Amino acid sequence: MGDDGAARRPPVLAVSPEALEEAVRVLRGGGLVAFPTETVYGLGADAANPDAVARIFAAKGRPADHPLIVHVASAEAARGWAASFPEPARALAEAFWPGPLTLVLPRSDRVPDAVTGGRATVGLRVPDQPVALALLERFGGGVAAPSANRFGRVSPTTAEHVAADLGERVDLVVDGGPCAVGVESTIVEVDGDRLTVLRTGAVTAEDVAAVTGLPVAATPTGPARAPGMLAAHYAPRARVVLAEAPEAAETVARWVEKGHRVAVLAEVLPEGLPQGAVPLPPVASARDYARVLYQRLRDVDAAGADVVVAVPPEPAGIGLAVRDRLLRASRAH
Ligand code: AMP
Ligand code: MG
Repeated sequence: MGDDGAARRPPVLAVSPEALEEAVRVLRGGGLVAFPTETVYGLGADAANPDAVARIFAAKGRPADHPLIVHVASAEAARGWAASFPEPARALAEAFWPGPLTLVLPRSDRVPDAVTGGRATVGLRVPDQPVALALLERFGGGVAAPSANRFGRVSPTTAEHVAADLGERVDLVVDGGPCAVGVESTIVEVDGDRLTVLRTGAVTAEDVAAVTGLPVAATPTGPARAPGMLAAHYAPRARVVLAEAPEAAETVARWVEKGHRVAVLAEVLPEGLPQGAVPLPPVASARDYARVLYQRLRDVDAAGADVVVAVPPEPAGIGLAVRDRLLRASRAH
């Protein structure tokens, strides 16, 4: 497939038993299937087939050393992909699977190097999405899947985002509607009794500590601990500028005065926005903020804005993950 692979649309099938059959057939044949999860859409390949996994990297334009998450239908299935499954991992799997939590564990012999970029560990997850679970159950194996976007673009939360971004680089897109969570999974590395949050998501470090009774090292938003978490992954074309609510209107005015087209993203739109500012539809809560974040960032580009001033949600629960993604996006330019 040439560089213009994105120009033509891939087949997009609404979920049905026939669509799932076709998806399994494509996976078994070493092809790529984009499918919905509760976090974002994944670009899936048979995790046991190194050639199929290599196609993910080619389709995304992603460096080969960025590891992929292996998706499975159950905690029992996950055990086959890990060399060991320590007690804290068992407790976390029981509490949060199916759900938006990825466990990084020592990998078993079954995991090809292509999946982990040669690492000794593998990321495992059981997604909480009926279409994803049905696909994984029918397929029977593990599905290696990063987010279904070209490298350096915002993660997709609808089938349309995937089709527009990847085009024919993906063999089939299964449409299961918009993603319910909207930001990528929490990633927790489990090294015996040592727990480290590598990426924040809907499951918080506090949740992990409460379930395991262990201290949890949380990565502050800063240099990425999980490989491949580059700032550009979370940024639209427009520059992202963060402002807390009291100074948001002033910040917008400053960028408008400099001649920019400025979009505004917030739970409560700031009062006194200057003429020419482009308010995006307000979000109802931190949960809603997470759900629509990547859609809104795409809307910013579509509105022709070159700057978006975002008022982040409160730093609690999933609001922490939204703040993390916004902060990373703000550093991308
Ligand atoms: P994506 O779903 O596109 O964010 O890609 C999967 C991400 O999971 C990677 O970029 C890594 O940040 C993380 N990941 C997967 N496997 C591992 C692992 N073995 N160790 C650390 N991070 C991992
Ligand atoms: Mg990604």
